[in-house]
Amino acid sequence: MQGSRPGQNPGSGSRSPFKYFKGELFVEEVAVKTIARHVGTPVYIYSATCIASNYRSYSDSFANLDCRVFYSIKANSNIGVLRHLSTLGAGFDAVSGGEIRRALAVGAPAGSIVFSGVGKTRNEMALALEVGIRHINVESEQELLRLSRLAGNMGKVASVLIRVNPDVDANTHTKIATGRAEDKFGIPWSRVKSAYVLAEELPNLNPIGLAMHIGSQLMSLEPISKAADQLAGLVRSLRAEGHQLDCLDVGGGLGVQYRAEGPAGPSVTDYARLVQARLGDLDCELELEPGRSIVADAGILAASVLLRKRGISQEILVLDAAMNDLVRPALYGAWHEIVPVQKRPEHTECVRTDVVGPICESGDRFASGLRLPRLDEGELVAVKTAGAYCAVMASQYNSRPLVPEVFVRGQQWTVVRRRPSFEEIIGIEAIPDWL
Ligand SMILES: *Cc1c(COP(=O)(O)O)cnc(C)c1O
Repeated sequence: MQGSRPGQNPGSGSRSPFKYFKGELFVEEVAVKTIARHVGTPVYIYSATCIASNYRSYSDSFANLDCRVFYSIKANSNIGVLRHLSTLGAGFDAVSGGEIRRALAVGAPAGSIVFSGVGKTRNEMALALEVGIRHINVESEQELLRLSRLAGNMGKVASVLIRVNPDVDANTHTKIATGRAEDKFGIPWSRVKSAYVLAEELPNLNPIGLAMHIGSQLMSLEPISKAADQLAGLVRSLRAEGHQLDCLDVGGGLGVQYRAEGPAGPSVTDYARLVQARLGDLDCELELEPGRSIVADAGILAASVLLRKRGISQEILVLDAAMNDLVRPALYGAWHEIVPVQKRPEHTECVRTDVVGPICESGDRFASGLRLPRLDEGELVAVKTAGAYCAVMASQYNSRPLVPEVFVRGQQWTVVRRRPSFEEIIGIEAIPDWL
């Protein structure tokens, strides 16, 4: 299998921290059952060792380039996870003021934070300037004007990268493709040069280079290669016209393996080779913004079976987890492996099973037609590859409390987000005094 080279492929699952011991699923050295008993279900569980090894596959593969990793906070923004990555040496890519504050809250230096996003509020930009983050990735001419004015008022100079839209199709799900001309992201290819000139002319802005990010869950390096080529051409031609560029932000987007029999994501070593070949001789500082490929395979969602119901042609397994806890299947039609936490001898026979949550929406379904043993009420299942874009997208729909998160390293485990009480949930609401 392409992804089985040890230490190189974050999405391959080959170094999975989730292993069975005497039929019992463990996260590193802690039984999933133990955490479920203490914390209750549903609960997210993350492996610190797996996150570290995914991070190191980037830092090692890119070690011979002038390159730095800015972990994309939005994939998993738990402050335990962020502190862990900060300690490992990661910088951070934020897409909101809240994410900048999360990075600062775990002790990340402001100079290790970059700020992207198609619509930044005045307050968010002011925060970025006030604390002195590394640079702001600007996505429109209007944003250049707004940022210049704000920086002037604050007596600051904003370092900016111009985010280009290279108009390549990343061949990913349409809801997570970001580099096509019709997508809302970045400055259209034909106007990048004039935007760069505008950034140079406007007061209180210091343009230092270009940024791109063409999409997420990319299973081939081809589109990144194409976009990087275009970026290199743009750097050369801007320089030939006398402009100075010192920094290139290549974005994130590497895909991971969600299906056990499915393809592995691109290897980070191949990615590093590509970046070296396309951008390595430009004498620019390079920046990467991986999110999913750092955390996805380091997490599971553990849930309990509420009941097993007989459908017409399939079994229906109703879990205590629902689309509010993990929305990716409902939002993107995403696939997650689902496995029993306890393997029993009588589990030899598998039947077609739909795995669903209890919410009154037909989209509240984790899987259709999955081959699963007949699990009974109270048994635990693990929804795999749930470390990225899962807990961060959770809501309290149906007044279901925000799902807790647990962080594991070796034999140690800690609740890094607890389940809120009912009083906390309604505590931020009010009944008008005119009622
Ligand atoms: C979401 C995002 C990333 C991370 O993408 P992944 O697919 O999780 O690696 C990187 N850069 C920007 C600007 C993003 O919006």
